[in-house]
Amino acid sequence: MRHVDTIIVGGGPAGSTCARHLIENGREVLVLDKAVFPRLKLCAGWITGKVMRDLAFTAEDYPHPIVKLDIRTHFFGLPLAFNWFPTPGPDYSIRRVEFDAWLLARSGAEVIEHEVKSVVREGERFVIDGAYSCRYLIGAGGTMCPVRRAIFPEGRMKSRQIVTLEREFEYPARDETCHLYFFRRGLVGYSWVVPKGNGFVNIGLGGKAKYFRKSGTKIHDHFRTFVDDLVREKRLDATTAADLQETGHPYFLYTVGGEVKRDNCFLIGDSAGLASVDLGEGIGPAVESALMAAREIMGTGEYRKQAISVLSLRGMVAHLMRRANRRHVAVG
Ligand SMILES: Cc1cc2nc3c(=O)[nH]c(=O)nc-3n(C[C@H](O)[C@H](O)[C@H](O)COP(=O)(O)OP(=O)(O)OC[C@H]3O[C@@H](n4cnc5c(N)ncnc54)[C@H](O)[C@@H]3O)c2cc1C
Repeated sequence: MRHVDTIIVGGGPAGSTCARHLIENGREVLVLDKAVFPRLKLCAGWITGKVMRDLAFTAEDYPHPIVKLDIRTHFFGLPLAFNWFPTPGPDYSIRRVEFDAWLLARSGAEVIEHEVKSVVREGERFVIDGAYSCRYLIGAGGTMCPVRRAIFPEGRMKSRQIVTLEREFEYPARDETCHLYFFRRGLVGYSWVVPKGNGFVNIGLGGKAKYFRKSGTKIHDHFRTFVDDLVREKRLDATTAADLQETGHPYFLYTVGGEVKRDNCFLIGDSAGLASVDLGEGIGPAVESALMAAREIMGTGEYRKQAISVLSLRGMVAHLMRRANRRHVAVG
């Protein structure tokens, strides 16, 4: 059996950020991921200026195409007359297939392709599939993280589950503007058209699973209607629209309760369910939690779930969301 000081299960933004910080501080780290990078990750690929600062890179340093987003917001199907999007900005888009592979390579971590199936506690150590053991274990395996299942078997709040559908494809005729549609055709959630570098575009939508359950509407029907609307608005041609094969992935919004560390085991990113409660931003909280967990292992800080940013919006909108969230927590 191979023993390592820290094993990180999952090499997405959470895992690679944690690995990079530990390695920079002289720690021994091994990343286990079931996929070989570059790998597909369903995501609109919107990142904020804060994410870039936390990851210590600029648009100029980034080795792949990156687009500074010009965002047009639509409410109930109507575009706002001016470009207004209350994030601290600037906002950018990247392609996850490139971004995640770059972050993981940049971390300097040894990465082994291995699908983790079992995690057990043996005294002071964690043993993975009888093949690897470690003193510190990081669960960064996303929504279905096996570390979460083994060490934090408590269920999650179903009311915070987000379901999504999307497609990313090359479409050189794409609109250069990023469009966000809130409450389009009754959808309690939002849809997007995000332009990416090299003529790619990402089209998708997401909403709370409980909305689809309660309303009796199907997410695939919402996606199809959305695509048909884009054809009507001449943002997409009919042949491309007919060939689109959308796929989805669930993840969880931040909740106040629920542990993210137990003994020397930490959950970060989607494995901890930390996406912002207003826009479902997951990359920022994945990076923040990864840095906090690494600092706790280094003995230079503490990983506290309450310290993670729970909102992506700011100003009046954020204030209203915070109030609604408090009420939700108080009631639920
Ligand atoms: C359709 C969609 C659109 C989104 N859009 C945005 C957006 O625009 N901006 C934003 O900020 N957030 C967005 N999110 C959320 C964001 O994608 C996630 O929050 C983010 O990827 C979390 O990063 P992570 O490192 O925790 O997990 P992941 O990126 O999911 O990485 C987990 C890694 O663990 C590996 N793994 C899983 N199981 C195992 C196993 N058993 N053994 C070994 N390895 C394993 C996987 O292969 C993967 O590489 C979106 C999500 C979806 C689904």
